[in-house]
Amino acid sequence: MKIGLEVHAGLPTKTKLFCRCTNHSKEPNTAICPTCTGMPGSKPVLNNSALKIAFSISKALNCSSSKTIYFERKVYFYPDLPKSFQITQKECPIGSNGFILLGDKKIRIRRVQLEEDPAKILREDGYTLIDYNRSGRPLVEIVTEPDIQTEEDLRMFITELKSILYYLDVDVEQEIKADLNISLSEIRVEVKNITGTKNIIDAARYEIQRQEKLINENIPIEKETRSYNEAKMATISSREKESDEEYGFIFDSDLTVYDISKIKAIKPIYASSMAKEYSQKYGVNESQILEAIQFNKNSLGFIERFEKNYKLKNILNSISLLQRYGSKNDVETLEKVIKIIEQGHYPDQKDIQAIESGKEITINIKVANTQEIDKEIRSMIDGNKNLLKESATNKKALNFIIGNIAKKLKVNPRLVSERLESLLSSEHKVQ
Ligand SMILES: [Zn+2]
Repeated sequence: MKIGLEVHAGLPTKTKLFCRCTNHSKEPNTAICPTCTGMPGSKPVLNNSALKIAFSISKALNCSSSKTIYFERKVYFYPDLPKSFQITQKECPIGSNGFILLGDKKIRIRRVQLEEDPAKILREDGYTLIDYNRSGRPLVEIVTEPDIQTEEDLRMFITELKSILYYLDVDVEQEIKADLNISLSEIRVEVKNITGTKNIIDAARYEIQRQEKLINENIPIEKETRSYNEAKMATISSREKESDEEYGFIFDSDLTVYDISKIKAIKPIYASSMAKEYSQKYGVNESQILEAIQFNKNSLGFIERFEKNYKLKNILNSISLLQRYGSKNDVETLEKVIKIIEQGHYPDQKDIQAIESGKEITINIKVANTQEIDKEIRSMIDGNKNLLKESATNKKALNFIIGNIAKKLKVNPRLVSERLESLLSSEHKVQ
């Protein structure tokens, strides 16, 4: 099975790609000008900030770039395109031949190109409405080779790509759009214009099952373009015929050739490899670290600031406590919480609120001595030989024991649970 993707992501610029209209207007048709509505005589001027971000994305995806780039007009006739062509890149994209690593798997990136978004079309009560605010917004299109082989890899690829884009300030909360191509045989089927990670994965799953069924029944698979129907969770033949060869592409003579060799790319951050490094360095669960930092610059900043002074596990626990109970998310509050956790106490919601309001909190719970807890767990295990076996399957029994020890020693159950976990895992290694 081969899956390839074309992902479109909007760039975080103040203004559009070829004019000075704002990139952030909500009220329809308020951020428009002669250029982005394609009036005769209007001239595009390239937004350098968009160029720099697109270049940085291509570098973050390990692409190589030629010294210069230029733009082409992709000619087609549709109401979302007032000047009847979209300014895009074909022959000389901003980056090519890159890759993303998913563990030891490499997903190759064929190309990264910079282009303008068409307008947005809304169909309401039999009318077709057009919002030209979107017309001319900067987009990158990221095209992979068909290297993705499973649904799980597809999910991991999209998450990894989104995390890389997030750290380059791309708004990944705004759903990404993608075209999928999927082939289980020699025939390639495209599913176009899917919005959002969940829909992309659902569409892929449906399409894989559909093609498997056809193969099993010896029915030939048609080379075609399909669309994804979210309500039916199915892909549907859309009878679209255009391929790149059928569009007219011509050099955009309103624009020039741009030298990109002097652009300094923004330094990329790969949360997944950082999580791996931290995990190896401090022996903390890799997925717990990744969960904290994959889409959270603050958390990464906190870890970088405190890793030398406190245990990483305690930093991560403090971050998640603050996310759950806190209203502030600042360094001072976090450090206070870490210090309390380092003493073996887990603050509750009331404690966190008190810390945030600057009150001195009195910790009533006795500061636990881990050796004392370990001793208690040992005697519990020795008194019940089946506990080890049972604990693997019976969570209730385990929680009962944790609760009893916590009560007896007047310590927080989470601390007991942590000690028990580490004792059980060392026990497993011995066996
Ligand atoms: Zn404009």
